[in-house]
Amino acid sequence: MTDPGPGPDVSAGAVVGVDVGGTKILAGVVAPDGTVLATAVRPTPARDGSVQLLEAAVDEAVEEAVGAADDVGRAGAVAGVGVAAAGFVDAGRERVMFAPHLPWRGEAVRRRFADRWGVPVVLDNDANAAAWAEFRHGAAQGAGTAVVVTVGTGIGSAIVLGGGPEGAGRLLRGLNGMAGELGHQQVVPNGEPCECGGRGCWEQYASGNALVAFARARVGREATVLDDWCGGVPERLTGPMVTAAAEADDLVALQAFAAIGDWLGVGLANVTAALDPDVIVVGGGVSAAGDRLLEPARAALSRSLVGAAHRRLPPVRRAVLGPEAAIVGAAAMVRSALDVR
Ligand SMILES: [Zn+2]
Repeated sequence: MTDPGPGPDVSAGAVVGVDVGGTKILAGVVAPDGTVLATAVRPTPARDGSVQLLEAAVDEAVEEAVGAADDVGRAGAVAGVGVAAAGFVDAGRERVMFAPHLPWRGEAVRRRFADRWGVPVVLDNDANAAAWAEFRHGAAQGAGTAVVVTVGTGIGSAIVLGGGPEGAGRLLRGLNGMAGELGHQQVVPNGEPCECGGRGCWEQYASGNALVAFARARVGREATVLDDWCGGVPERLTGPMVTAAAEADDLVALQAFAAIGDWLGVGLANVTAALDPDVIVVGGGVSAAGDRLLEPARAALSRSLVGAAHRRLPPVRRAVLGPEAAIVGAAAMVRSALDVR
């Protein structure tokens, strides 16, 4: 084992990552190599609920995850906690400024949890945490510049710079801490309205919501297993149903993935034009479809990118850390902050 270097000796302590999402709170004890040793889940309290209720649920999830790791003799004292929040985090990483699905508004979340738990706490945005996980332990390892896109209900994304053989890598944060929010780049002037207040945003065309909208528009008009699964009621269709139908080679489901994959590639061409990254990693629930999503994305990237015939294109890879990426990344951020491995 290498010398852990200066800083507190917490090699025996547990590092916890907690992902505070719009529907659930996932906490996990994470080993130095990114392995998740134990987890606990709590439903996220209703969005119009109190901050106290939300933070109590976070407390419970963290406590239960540490308890579960203790039961198998893997935790010990807690050395630090990384909090990944589904919202905008300020550049100083002290506050959640705004979160569409959480009650935090300008809240000094980091300090409050650190005071309550009595350990160092690192706060970041969930897409940043997931990207950091893929860079440290997943599909973007070794990259100089990596773009990590999380395709779920919407599109989250983050950019890692300064990696490669010599570099430790860092997340691009920008003036407000809001760099890399690619989901709201406009791809269609005056296009579909978006929850953000804009129109024609990328996530209206290339997200899980877009996938479901595509399939719903065709149910009842074309022969498809989706018709049976939703009982002829388009509103009952879900993203996982479309993914399962595509696995069964259902034509409408395959067309839905081809359509949003194509839009995904159009947006990836824009970010490639700006950053010329070494690698693009695509995660999130919709990426479970694998090449059914990524092949049309690669084709559209090569079609839409300036000078595509005269340059190397970045590989578009599927993320490897799955739904635990944000907790793995948040824990890795804590280890970096504590200067321990
Ligand atoms: Zn938008």
